[in-house]
Amino acid sequence: MSNPTRSARSPAAADHERVSWMGAALREAEKGAAAGEIPVGAVVVSPEGKILSRAHNRPVTANDPTAHAEILALRGAGRRTGNYRLPGCRLVVTLEPCPMCAGAAVVARVAEIIYGTPDPKGGAVSTLYRIASDPRLNHRAAVTSGILAEECASLLTTFFRSRRSVPRS
Ligand SMILES: [Zn+2]
Repeated sequence: MSNPTRSARSPAAADHERVSWMGAALREAEKGAAAGEIPVGAVVVSPEGKILSRAHNRPVTANDPTAHAEILALRGAGRRTGNYRLPGCRLVVTLEPCPMCAGAAVVARVAEIIYGTPDPKGGAVSTLYRIASDPRLNHRAAVTSGILAEECASLLTTFFRSRRSVPRS
């Protein structure tokens, strides 16, 4: 397993818990790939460590540019808890969140964002921006990266490789 890195404010949780949550997010990502979506999966975990919602990327099937796995999982957790904020919850996602999803996680007041593999072209919690750690915003979330990183990345690599090998119609 790769070495996770985390910010100093990361709330207490054992690595094996993070790995188990990421496993659930990976299974969602696989469902996305099967549906022809970029394979990204997300779950939201309650402060007690229970999975509240699961989702995979759906922008293509939903004709919705905002239907990223994280947005759908945050919405699901809000509905499940009957709360428009998710204090103490964790957003667990296979790929580093984009600016939209990082912003949504801050608005939702999640305690921690856990991601698998960095996104050099869109990552907004470590790579290109640090939206969840920006002191100018009114909430900050801890960030933990590198959980099941190889598995998360290889799902994406395999997906894009298979798409490139399909002749365009
Ligand atoms: Zn996103």
